Amino acid sequence: MASLAARLPDNAPGNFYVDRTCIDCDTCRRIAPEVFEQGDGHSYVRTQPDSPEGSRRALMALVACPTASIGTAQRTNASEAVAAFPETIDEDVSFCGFTSESSFGAWSYFVERPGGHVLVDSPRAAGPLLSALEERGGVRTLFLTHRDDVADHAAFHWRFGCERVLHERDIAAGTREVERRLAGDDPVALADDLLAIPTPGHTRGHAVLLYREKYLFTGDHLAWSRRRNRLVAFRDACWYSWDEQIRSMERLLDSRYRFEWVLPGHGGRHRAASPEAMRDELARCVDEMRRVR
Ligand code: SF4
Repeated sequence: MASLAARLPDNAPGNFYVDRTCIDCDTCRRIAPEVFEQGDGHSYVRTQPDSPEGSRRALMALVACPTASIGTAQRTNASEAVAAFPETIDEDVSFCGFTSESSFGAWSYFVERPGGHVLVDSPRAAGPLLSALEERGGVRTLFLTHRDDVADHAAFHWRFGCERVLHERDIAAGTREVERRLAGDDPVALADDLLAIPTPGHTRGHAVLLYREKYLFTGDHLAWSRRRNRLVAFRDACWYSWDEQIRSMERLLDSRYRFEWVLPGHGGRHRAASPEAMRDELARCVDEMRRVR
């Protein structure tokens, strides 16, 4: 719970504030960019919300914050913001909110599909989220893009009996029990509409998930930069091999893979005008990656 005593001095005066426990994960800035701004290693409230919708978005950021670093000076009811998650992004794809500190606030997604619902990466196993997922039919598959974003995977497995999927190269002590291990670098069809594509680079066992040839869940492989207005990969957060990550990115340019959406764990999401437009943007990203080798 945020503490007024630890309120950062750069917050705008008013009800909402960020305290010193902020880890600068970007979640609040993605949810309510008109309220939260990046400071020096943390977020702060740049502008207090001045509308019911602005307050609702700020409260959703409060709920989603992995470290409970956002608070309100006055008693403020957050029940509507809690109930807003999972929040629809497009069609049957939603953002889970309730991010986890152990995955540095990485975003998780919920896909409601006739063949069984899918969770992409693990959010925090918060009671309201577990109940909301249960009401919507539970989780059949928990796809883990890589070792960093597994968070509360065991709690979701226990609650829903979902099959967890992770590449064998990213298995660690806490994930030895996952039900399905991917192997090698070839794509694996998990279902007619779900394709797991190994993308080593950020980690050795990183993989992305292609859904309905429209949505690509990219973990920490690929994201949209709001500042640069383009697709990017994170050179400073490449833990395994930048050259491998470039090769993985090049494989995504293959015409077999069509998608309009990039939905990452960290960084911005992006929808291109068409799969062809997305491929052009991806090609620009690959060119840039080769330049910063
Ligand atoms: S969501 Fe929380 S931890 Fe992340 S940047 Fe905002 S205040 Fe900081």
